Amino acid sequence: MAAQLRLRSALALVTGAGSGLGRAISQRLAREGALVVAGDRDGAAAEGTIRLLEGMGSEAGSGPRCHAAFQVDVAEAGAVQGLIEQIQACFSRPPSVVVSCAGIIRDEFLLRMPEDYWDEVIAVNLKGTFLVTQAAARALVSNGCGGSIINISSIIGKVGNLGQTNYAASKAGVAGMTSSVALELGRHGIRCNSILPGFIITPMTKKVPQKVLDQITARIPMGHLGVPEDVADVVAFLASDDSGYITGTTVEVTGGLFM
Ligand code: NAP
Repeated sequence: MAAQLRLRSALALVTGAGSGLGRAISQRLAREGALVVAGDRDGAAAEGTIRLLEGMGSEAGSGPRCHAAFQVDVAEAGAVQGLIEQIQACFSRPPSVVVSCAGIIRDEFLLRMPEDYWDEVIAVNLKGTFLVTQAAARALVSNGCGGSIINISSIIGKVGNLGQTNYAASKAGVAGMTSSVALELGRHGIRCNSILPGFIITPMTKKVPQKVLDQITARIPMGHLGVPEDVADVVAFLASDDSGYITGTTVEVTGGLFM
């Protein structure tokens, strides 16, 4: 089936774009016609994503007609602000689609959880999402343009998981923050939603022992783990005008797990 071009005039920023979900999301948004800015703390990985986008998304409006990669650590306020400024300098506008996908795990049971595991996960997953959302929203509001902000949370933020007190807290925080952002920014024409993926096959889940993945799979009504494209499809919908009256919500992409 021919790809729709629902994002023909969009400039999309995707963080964590060098791997897994972020890479698949970048590809999907580009196929929909968006210009994509791939941000990752691994700049070479972000460049690798951009190479996969060649020939896609050249329909976008003003500014340069090619995708771009930037190295950025989303946990650093100055780096995030610098990224938004660089994007505006390059493209003469802020990103109208902003996908916060950068995330990490540092798993350990509560009784053994070192403080730095807690701090690192909160810094990247929660504070990083806050910093990207805030910097992008400030630019969108001051430019008087609307937009769609999509934050990748996790079903674990809703149901919890063994060994993931830090991760679950960070992802619950992302969902709560997203609702508040939606309340504040609706009047500026900016929507903000979060996605709660279940277990999706990426480098992150490759760290989970196969035995555990088999146990999880047995509980998934759809009978299999997800693939990054399952999440990317929903991001494309939330980024587009097809979801123009949807804000402040969470969309579970879990194959029915934990419904
Ligand atoms: P992934 O393959 O590990 O990709 C995450 C990417 O984010 C990596 O390229 C990583 O770079 C980058 N990153 C990490 N910290 C960063 C930082 N401080 N600044 C900028 N980039 C940073 O993981 P994934 O599975 O695609 O996960 C993507 C998002 O989906 C995460 O937020 C994750 O929590 C969420 N999620 C995933 C699943 C799943 O089943 N896969 C389920 C629910 C939610 P490095 O490789 O250098 O760390």
